[in-house]
Amino acid sequence: MADLGSQYRKIRHEVEPELLKVLENGRYILGENVEQLEAEIAHLCQVPYAIGVNSGTDALKLALRALNIQPGDEVITTPFTFVSTVEVVVHLGATPVFVDIDPETYNLDPEQVESAITPRTRAIMPVDLYGQSAEMRALREIADRHGLYLIEDAAQAIGARHYEAPIGAYADVATLSFFPTKNIGGAGDGGMVLTHHEEVARKVRSLRVHGMNGGYYYEDIGYTSRLDEIQAVILRAKLRHLEEWTQRRRYHATLYRTFLAELEPHLPVVRPYNYHVYHQFTLRHPQRDALREHLRARGIESAVYYPLPLHLQPAYRFLGYQEGDFPRAERAAQEVLSIPVHSELGEDQITLVAESILEFARSEVSVR
Ligand SMILES: *Cc1c(COP(=O)(O)O)cnc(C)c1O
Repeated sequence: MADLGSQYRKIRHEVEPELLKVLENGRYILGENVEQLEAEIAHLCQVPYAIGVNSGTDALKLALRALNIQPGDEVITTPFTFVSTVEVVVHLGATPVFVDIDPETYNLDPEQVESAITPRTRAIMPVDLYGQSAEMRALREIADRHGLYLIEDAAQAIGARHYEAPIGAYADVATLSFFPTKNIGGAGDGGMVLTHHEEVARKVRSLRVHGMNGGYYYEDIGYTSRLDEIQAVILRAKLRHLEEWTQRRRYHATLYRTFLAELEPHLPVVRPYNYHVYHQFTLRHPQRDALREHLRARGIESAVYYPLPLHLQPAYRFLGYQEGDFPRAERAAQEVLSIPVHSELGEDQITLVAESILEFARSEVSVR
């Protein structure tokens, strides 16, 4: 599903001299490379402010803190996402309110958002799942109509676009993750907060260093959530390849679509106004587990993101949801399967994966 070693070997000549400079100059945390990376990502995403932090999860947490989300507040989000999105809301004492997904894109369904808004709602938090933007334009309108913040979890979508605009364009705050397997990943944890608001940027900068404002003067109760120079060196080198690597992912997706054309209803749906960066290429199939086993038997890795929606997870049972509350998310959890799509794959590997899937699909038909 990822081949980070061979990706690294392609850029080691760019990375290693810079890493040695960092090791020798002794400035290891929040130095020049972090500042440069922040500027480069702000430029890429066309936002005025980008702030490097410890992880994608912390980026979400600091974003919510900077927007002053508090106990008693409600944040509308999707049950079909990585756990961080919801975890951070609970950590701040606020309440996640789930809304079901669009069954085609797996992203938060804007049509169901409005009826979930209450006087306590403070923010809407969509996720750009699998590398395709959420319905940010529609959600922005809803947020504006109700005076809510819009926070975009773009952990899976660096480089994606929505109506030609880069991720983050419609959000008050957007967040990135540099977890190693993300489209741009470090050799460790990292994340970033993107925002259009100067005050939010100032606050996140302070929160990441314990709420400090000036030397050992604390205006907020903060965190230890800094990005380090070694990660920043690696991320800057990878960022220079983002366009090329995204093109490869998109090319692999095109190959799959060609080979698997007869399975059209099972292929990912991309809205015409979205530029998908294929963090994952995710099929859906009613016999998902059997298909996965079939691929495994041929030495092909696949993954299920995510096998159980968050409203049914033991840790979040206290929120009071039940099976049947979000039928589209529940069905997706049973049917989705992500297959290898990353930039290091060769066409022969894509062909093998596609042929194995066809073999399974055709045998299913003959069984019936
Ligand atoms: C990866 C991911 C995160 C968390 O990022 P970390 O850097 O691992 O903390 C949050 N949300 C989504 C949707 C993710 O995919």
